[in-house]
Amino acid sequence: MRIVLVGPPGAGKGTQAAFLAKNLSIPHISTGDLFRANISQGTDLGKQARSYMDAGQLVPDEVTNAMAEDRMSQADAEHGFLLDGFPRNVGQAVTLDEMLRTKGVVLDAVLDLEVPEDEVVKRIAGRRICRNDSAHVFHVTYNPPKAEGVCDACGGELYQRDDDTEETVRTRLEVYHTQTEPIIDYYRSQGLVVTISALGKVTEVTERAMEALK
Ligand code: ADP
Ligand code: ADP
Ligand code: ADP
Repeated sequence: MRIVLVGPPGAGKGTQAAFLAKNLSIPHISTGDLFRANISQGTDLGKQARSYMDAGQLVPDEVTNAMAEDRMSQADAEHGFLLDGFPRNVGQAVTLDEMLRTKGVVLDAVLDLEVPEDEVVKRIAGRRICRNDSAHVFHVTYNPPKAEGVCDACGGELYQRDDDTEETVRTRLEVYHTQTEPIIDYYRSQGLVVTISALGKVTEVTERAMEALK
């Protein structure tokens, strides 16, 4: 299956993507994780992205699209993928359509995770991620690691993302509403959107998502 995941920052996209990708045997491709890996490795791409991420703004399309295209070219588009955090504006959605057209494939679904804003703020405030791999995600109260500050998956150190501050979250939510939400209408016109509530336990949301994707 070829799936795009959308939803506001902190909705649980990364958390759900990990389970869905495993259940569906498709790669989880997160542009946020790719940017963070580049930043921690000190690459030029990471240097280009950092100031935008810290400010809660989108990294410019030419940088993001090139990175996404490069990562997608390593995936077997025929077999499928789960995109998390890309596309994030209509321009990126058009670029993705062009990429898929050259591969002769189409999307199967756009899964829209709906969460009220006050819940999103709580999820982001307690989010802790692993230094080794930002796909290892925890929450201080909702999904605490077995040992405080230590990643269950790999033993790495857990930390709070630089952009998970109250001020940046406000900017990111505004960016989501003004730039990312319009892609939901774009995909709705293609008949691809399935919206589910992302409230409740992680396992409940996964079940809801699997049901919606049938
Ligand atoms: P969250 O899941 O909390 O919304 P992400 O990890 O997806 O956060 O993204 C973190 C930051 O990385 C974004 O605020 C943005 O600066 C940058 N980013 C990630 N994906 C994209 C994208 N497709 N286009 C532009 N910027 C992006
Ligand atoms: P809107 O103002 O876009 O119509 P709603 O009032 O319908 O939003 O949404 C209620 C809450 O759900 C908002 O606080 C918002 O953060 C969140 N939300 C809105 N749209 C989406 C979406 N497409 N995906 C996930 N959450 C959303
Ligand atoms: P996104 O990728 O959409 O920004 P994450 O998957 O990183 O969101 O989740 C944001 C935070 O909320 C993390 O700390 C995660 O552990 C927590 N979280 C995810 N899903 C749920 C859920 N269903 N209930 C409570 N907390 C959740």
